[in-house]
Amino acid sequence: MEVIGKKEEYSAFRGDTHHERLKKKVSMIYIKNALTAIHEGVYGVCIACGEKIPINRLKIVPGAVRCTSCEEKIQNQCGGILI
Ligand SMILES: [Zn+2]
Repeated sequence: MEVIGKKEEYSAFRGDTHHERLKKKVSMIYIKNALTAIHEGVYGVCIACGEKIPINRLKIVPGAVRCTSCEEKIQNQCGGILI
């Protein structure tokens, strides 16, 4: 058996660029929020305006918690990543 001096590190972000890591982290937040919404029975409802999130948006971004309009407003204000 070979002795390895340093334990190999495992990470979901291994080999990713900073942008890829950030996008994965944002996606994980969205997924967590969507799971919470499913649990609370409000999945598919925009957390900002209360309107239904269009099914086509949910097909593309299943973890979306805001409708396209509200998401664009947030992105314009924050200059963040639109997913
Ligand atoms: Zn909305």
